[in-house]
Amino acid sequence: MGKALMIGAGGVAGVVAHKCCQNPEVFKELCIASRTVSKCDALKSKLDGGKTKVTTARLNADNTEEIIALIEKYRPDIVINVALPYQDLTIMDACLATKVHYLDTANYEPPDTAKFEYKWQWAYRKKFEDAGITAVLGSGFDPGVTGVFSAYAQKHYFDEIHTVDIVDANAGDHGYPFATNFNPEINIREVTANGSYFENGKFIETPPMSVKRVYDLPQIGPKDIYLLHHEEMESLALHIKGIKRIRFWMTFSESYLTHLKVLENVGMTSIEPIDFEGKQIVPLQFLKAVLPDPASLGPRTKGKTNIGCIFTGVKDGKERKYYVYNVCDHQACYAEVGSQAISYTTGVPAMIGAMMVLTGKWKKPGVYNVEEFDPDPFMEALNQYGLPWIEDFDPTLID
Ligand code: NDP
Repeated sequence: MGKALMIGAGGVAGVVAHKCCQNPEVFKELCIASRTVSKCDALKSKLDGGKTKVTTARLNADNTEEIIALIEKYRPDIVINVALPYQDLTIMDACLATKVHYLDTANYEPPDTAKFEYKWQWAYRKKFEDAGITAVLGSGFDPGVTGVFSAYAQKHYFDEIHTVDIVDANAGDHGYPFATNFNPEINIREVTANGSYFENGKFIETPPMSVKRVYDLPQIGPKDIYLLHHEEMESLALHIKGIKRIRFWMTFSESYLTHLKVLENVGMTSIEPIDFEGKQIVPLQFLKAVLPDPASLGPRTKGKTNIGCIFTGVKDGKERKYYVYNVCDHQACYAEVGSQAISYTTGVPAMIGAMMVLTGKWKKPGVYNVEEFDPDPFMEALNQYGLPWIEDFDPTLID
């Protein structure tokens, strides 16, 4: 059916590539392009011999002209951006110049400030509309599946959704005293920023990690969860009719938070460049270099993730509750595609989002968050491609 150009060759990219190759009817060809071409070649060698034709290319995606040149040479139908959030705009610019569809899993981040907001990418809406191409923003798990779950709840179970609690739990253990499950720079930026939640039309900020609950989650057991700011709250606040409150929760162990506190206190999580032996370095980037590579955690991680959304609202004049979630086993993911569940739960929805565009189910000119499309074919594909979901119409996890 189509050709995809995937940018990035890290943890998430590995899963996207495996999943595209499991779906050769849709992905006839895949080009893996990234800064370190040896990583693209290593990934290709695991995929060769299948029905999808895989090629690789060296690409610095900070440079729009370089991306345009590769797109013109390869002529993909869609660009799947699983590099880092810093590259979102250069890649969107290249897609506009060449009129190729675009998809990513994380909002654009300026390198010097941690923001987690969509304004820069939403500013491209008219340009994409005029060019007749589709941009799908945030097609990972959260953002991504959480938005699709919300659209599904709205479409099938509620006249009005009043509250959404997104709960992202990871009970995986990799055996290291401290490591992050995905890109450490992005992960640490996220958890050291202020928390926030949406209530009655506005966002309310909370100091980092200051709001905590203990939730007893299906297949995982009781876990400490903390309120965080997360980018999908911004788009869900716009797209869910009648919404009164949205919160995002993530699990962290006491040991993880203690390590993080120490690193923060000594200045290692800062994104302000410092002078070191005559050279400018960013402490957080240096920290990333000494921490275990998230891609290396796969073989060591045991346990499960549970990510889902708890909704309350009304249907036919009656109050209603609904909880929908996926449970993913780190070792099962590793056995299937050679990655742990964090990369898996992001990479599968990225492939599905690209498949939605290529098959025409999610094709409309403009820039969209996932909850703006029909959730049904995506939900069906989640069951088919490794992220089955479970529904509970009487959840007890509500406060
Ligand atoms: P990794 O750090 O493992 O991989 C990032 C890849 O991008 C690397 O291959 C890196 O190349 C490449 N890259 C970085 N800069 C450039 C550049 N300028 N040009 C070309 N390639 C570049 O990250 P992950 O795979 O863990 O994460 C990928 C994305 O997924 C991130 O944006 C992350 O925020 C997002 N994510 C989304 C989630 C969700 O649920 N929505 C959850 C988890 C992650 P090199 O090897 O040379 O450094």
